[in-house]
Amino acid sequence: MPRTPAAPPRTGPVRLGPHARAALRPAAEPAVAAGFWAARQEVNARVGIPQGPFLLESAGNLHDLRLAAGTAAGEYRGEYPFMDSDVYKWLEAACWQLARLHPDGPEGRRLADDVERIAGLVAAAQREDGYLNSWFQVGKGRGPYSDLRWGHELYCAGHLIQAAVAHRRATGRDRLLEVARRFADHIDAQFGPPGSGRPIDGIDGHPQVETALVELYRETGERRYLDLAGYFVDRRGHGLLGGEVYCQDRVPLRQALNVEGHAVRQLYLLAAAADLAAETGDGELAEAAERIWSAMAATKTHLTGGVGAHHDREEFGDPYELPTERAYCETCGAVASIQWSWRMALLTGEAKYSDLVERTLFNGFLAGVSLDGERWLYVNPLQVRDGHTDPGGDKSARRTRWFRCACCPPNVMRLLASLEHYLASTDGQGLQLHQYAGGTFRGEAAGESIVVSAHTDYPWDGRIAITVDETPAGRPWTLSLRIPQWCTGFTVDDEASARPRDGWLRLTRVWTPGERVVLELEMEPRLTRADPRADAVRGAVAIERGPLVYCLEQIDHPGGGLDDIVLDTAQPLTVKHRPDLLGGVTTVLATGHRRAVPAEDWWPYRPVSAGPSDTRRAVVSGPVELTAIPYYAWANREDGSMRVWLPTS
Ligand SMILES: [Zn+2]
Repeated sequence: MPRTPAAPPRTGPVRLGPHARAALRPAAEPAVAAGFWAARQEVNARVGIPQGPFLLESAGNLHDLRLAAGTAAGEYRGEYPFMDSDVYKWLEAACWQLARLHPDGPEGRRLADDVERIAGLVAAAQREDGYLNSWFQVGKGRGPYSDLRWGHELYCAGHLIQAAVAHRRATGRDRLLEVARRFADHIDAQFGPPGSGRPIDGIDGHPQVETALVELYRETGERRYLDLAGYFVDRRGHGLLGGEVYCQDRVPLRQALNVEGHAVRQLYLLAAAADLAAETGDGELAEAAERIWSAMAATKTHLTGGVGAHHDREEFGDPYELPTERAYCETCGAVASIQWSWRMALLTGEAKYSDLVERTLFNGFLAGVSLDGERWLYVNPLQVRDGHTDPGGDKSARRTRWFRCACCPPNVMRLLASLEHYLASTDGQGLQLHQYAGGTFRGEAAGESIVVSAHTDYPWDGRIAITVDETPAGRPWTLSLRIPQWCTGFTVDDEASARPRDGWLRLTRVWTPGERVVLELEMEPRLTRADPRADAVRGAVAIERGPLVYCLEQIDHPGGGLDDIVLDTAQPLTVKHRPDLLGGVTTVLATGHRRAVPAEDWWPYRPVSAGPSDTRRAVVSGPVELTAIPYYAWANREDGSMRVWLPTS
């Protein structure tokens, strides 16, 4: 919808400072208007975000803020010291959504009322001196900053800052930003290196404040917030939290070789490293972030882009330790990975970072929310076995309305509500499209404005038509299109083109308004294998098409379980679009067989000398027609087994 002419240019969660040394800047005024992501954003806007105030009230988060404000009585509700962060993440999501609405329309007014009411609760809960954390303020724990390992005060402060920046960027108002600044100033007065005159030399057990402080610097221009972020990043790995890997304190980030410890903590910290490198030109930090990213992508990322192999402590595993049914892949991990990779794409200009953003967005991230926007997954396994008994709760493989630890749902809400800001960039010499979605994107060439619009039915169809809406007259500029890493063939205006080595197809010319380019990516379904060191999936294949990872679900395969199915790789894969299924998906059809082991063959192990690789005397039946659906759409019908990786015949 049109905005009032007086409104400032719309910016998203990352706005580089004027002196940032990054290769790219996010495109200004992006808008997603139609297609796949517009539909997901619509559900987020109509169902996801509006349910927030009710859920935060039911779970006690708002009550806890009232307790801190002294306007309510009773017991603290919720068992974690980071209850406030759910409120902040919802506020951030609501503000990004508000930025997409007309402020005077009925939807905009209703949402703005909710935002201002809850922002008012936050402001009322803040102490005179700027400190703000409901858990400690009501007397849980030993007092402010007394338990940095588990207290989550700076983590919560980070989410407050991000919410406040979103509020400022969406509404132009300072109210929440003032609250966030007062808290940031309190932290700044308390924390610093030995000799700085500050009483505490310490870091928070859960990184998050670092990237938020960089954004606060970007929003306010106050250098000390950037310096504070740098201090928090560089004090990790020096034993301030007992050297714990879980808390990102085992090794200084500049010396780290791979991701480790708690996945979300690690990736929020690395997002801050990318932010700092961009703002300060710190080459060593940039190099470390690039090195760690490459190691993570190569050895610790699931096919879905999901990260974090261990349920235990929500941690990364060893290299190539990528289990399927016990994959943790927290939804927040996917959000954090996208946030970090986007910052790396801006910092370096390299397409591979946006390749991982795409994979994670369409798979590991999007599976975290149900198609109806009402139920969530905290963990995103790649397999649910036949006969799986589920304990329920936060770590369930069944979708849940809300969690005791409700970090994931508002994280999904805030990313979906700001998604257009992760799709395109400008380098001052043209425009780069990192992701393909129907919408408009604004860039710059030699100080003059460029606007392009994209029309596409991606990811169901590989055709992307891009129209130049605004262009400087008579001056060439470059339209850069990312050729996805999975893509083996494509055409530009019907001419076959060779895959660019760096993933960027660059079209440099003098453009005229209305001129159109049609990129067509080949979307043949394909079978994918993993590196043989990934033991959990050795010998198995996965079905993919375009950016989507596919899976089998029990409901589509009556007559037996999924664990008996063997894929026949000699048979072709075919596609069928099913507008009636799961909100409209393209399915991939394959052929398989079922293995049935005689009941008297009760022992599952046999000597190698006994014969073929199949350890038991299975009777193979078939063929069976297999229907694979996009992974993001699983667990939206009845409970049952699911699998991404399939054994082959
Ligand atoms: Zn989470």
